This record gives sequence, structure tokens and C-alpha cells, in this order.
Amino acid sequence: MKGFFRTMFLAGLVVLAVLCCGCGRESAGAWEAVDVAMGTMVRLKVYGPEEERAGEIFSQAREILQSLEEDELSWRLETSEVYRINASAGDGKGEALSAEMAQVLQTCLELYEKSEGAFDVTLGALVRLWKIDSWAGGAETGEFQAPSAGSLEEALGRCGSSMVGLLPKDSWQEGTRLLLPEGMQLDLGAVGKGLALSRILELLEEEPEVSGAVVYLGGSVLTYGSRLDGGSWKIGIADPSDPSSSVGILTLEGQWCVSTSGDYERYVERDGVRWHHILDPATGLPADSGVRSATILSRDGLLGDGLSTACFILGPEKGLELAGEYGAEVLFILDDGEFVMSEGMEAFFSEAGRQGSP
Ligand code: AMP
Ligand code: MG
Repeated sequence: MKGFFRTMFLAGLVVLAVLCCGCGRESAGAWEAVDVAMGTMVRLKVYGPEEERAGEIFSQAREILQSLEEDELSWRLETSEVYRINASAGDGKGEALSAEMAQVLQTCLELYEKSEGAFDVTLGALVRLWKIDSWAGGAETGEFQAPSAGSLEEALGRCGSSMVGLLPKDSWQEGTRLLLPEGMQLDLGAVGKGLALSRILELLEEEPEVSGAVVYLGGSVLTYGSRLDGGSWKIGIADPSDPSSSVGILTLEGQWCVSTSGDYERYVERDGVRWHHILDPATGLPADSGVRSATILSRDGLLGDGLSTACFILGPEKGLELAGEYGAEVLFILDDGEFVMSEGMEAFFSEAGRQGSP
């Protein structure tokens, strides 16, 4: 029954989002639009422009998100680059990369190396086996069956960034051919939202009349410039046990990306067991590193999104090290509710209810 109410709540959110589509005035000189994109809710606030210009910016942002999904990232749509790359797996010729995809994959494969294989964008076969894309946040399903050990082993045999080839070798540029072995499938679900925020940032930077903006896209947030009143950005960190409330806030000035990976974002529950969407390539099972969420604070959206997934799988000890290598800050919420954070994060985070937090 709990699942029923949760499903109804989520359905309500989607209806609300559809009703709210379009833009409206938030306060003098501030405009807000709510939409649904990349399978999640997107909320964009801009500060500074006239109403007409704000409307144009919202349409451009919508086009960016739509094109990113349809032309680059979707594994389902035949129109996308990822679809074409996946279709070429095992053909020996590979697929020529766009300049943008070459850059994204270079970042992802570097993260694969640095995370010792925990972060891996070649897990398509495994993600499809678990049918993660059909899971709503918290759908409780009596029919759910975890994959058998044999099917996990078979899917894992088709995963592993170390098996990806490049032609010419070691070259990451437009036209480089990416060679996937037979049966391997890319899944860029772990970086899609961060990449989207990086693209929206490029749009905002070209708009001199935008003095500030904040964009919420699923578990990722972009801040840019400043509010009209000069105040700081306050970004809530979701409580994994009740994601509609916050355990604390990040207080930020200027441009940042905040990316969170959590076991509450997409999962199914059966017989009291939670099966979530962040998979450990070492086992093929949902990662079990004692972490309920990992939040990364970084300048770059793509990297922040990739790092939050990697840190969730690695857990606090190795995750702190990895984030540090990239100069990013990290905050973990552990299974018992305890916080573990990088030293630099302490300057931004204040726990809810503690003195000094709102
Ligand atoms: P995020 O919510 O950003 O942590 O991304 C989770 C999504 O990334 C999942 O829904 C899968 O599509 C994909 N994914 C799951 N496990 C991994 C992993 N170990 N490395 C990279 N991508 C993954
Ligand atoms: Mg991620």
C-alpha cells in the first residue's frame, strides 16, 4: 500500500509538471519554467532578462535537452549516436565519433581507470538485464525477480571499458572510430544529466542579460551567477529516508554543479529488499558500499555526475580519494545516517537544524 501512495505521489508530480510547463514570473526580473525532460523533472530559474527573452531562453534550453536525448544519448532511439555505436558492436569497423561524443567518452574512460573499474559506461547489457529503465522511483512490484547468477555472469562478460578499441589508437577526436566487441552496449545514464547541465551552462554564458540562474534536473543542480538580491544559492541535500525533505543545505556563490547519486532515485522493493539502479561492475549487483547517497560539488557537470556515481559505488574511503584527485568536494550519507565529507565540503554544507542553517 505504501508503494501505491508513493506511485500516486510521483504521478501527481508528473501531472503537476505537465500543468506547470511554460514559464512564469517568479518575482521582479526572475522567471521560472518547469518541464519534463530526459525522463525527469527540470526546473529552470533565470534572473535578469525581460520576459520575452526569458521565454526564448527556456525554449532553447528545452531544445538542448531534447536534442541531447534524441541525437546523442538515447540507447532506444535510432536517431542517436549511442544507438549507432551500439548497433556497430562486433562489426569490426566501429562508428566514427562526433567531437562531442569523443570528449564525453574520453572523460568516462579516464574515470573508469581512476575508479579502478567501478564507473563503467559499457554496462548497457547489465542495465538492460536488470530492466532499470522501467523502474520508477520506489515502484513496489510483486513480479520483480532479480536476474539469475548465470544471466548476470553472461551480461558481465559483455561489459568492461578495457575491451573498447579506438581507431586510430589512443586518439580521441572527431572521426575517431570506436570499436565495441560483440554484444557490448554503452549506457550513458550516469552522466546524461550532468552533461545536460554543462550544455545549459554554455547557453547561459552566451546571454549577457542573464545575471544568474539555477537549474534542477533530477538529482543534479547547476548554479550560475548570482540572485538579483545578491544572496547565495541554497541547495538542499535530500534525506535518503525521505527524499522530499533535506538533511542540510549547500550555500554556494556563482557557478557550481551539484550532483547526487542515491539509492532512493530509482529502485524496486520486494519482500523488504531494495534493489537500486547503481550497479557494482565487480558483482553485477546493486552496489553495497554502506552508502545511501554521494553528492559531488564540482565546476563541471559531466565530471560531477560521473563522480557521484563512482563515489556511491566506491564508498567513503576510496570515494574521498577519487574526488580529491579531480579537485571535487564530496558528501556521503551512510546507511546509518552518518555524514562523511571532504574537508573542502565543510565550508559549504550546513546540517538541517544546526545553528547557522536556515
Ligand atoms: P546516477 O544516478 O547518475 O548515479 O546514474 C545511475 C545510472 O547510471 C543507472 O541508471 C545506469 O543507467 C547507469 N549505471 C549504473 N551503474 C553504473 C556504473 N557502475 N557505472 C556507470 N554507469 C552506471
Ligand atoms: Mg551520475
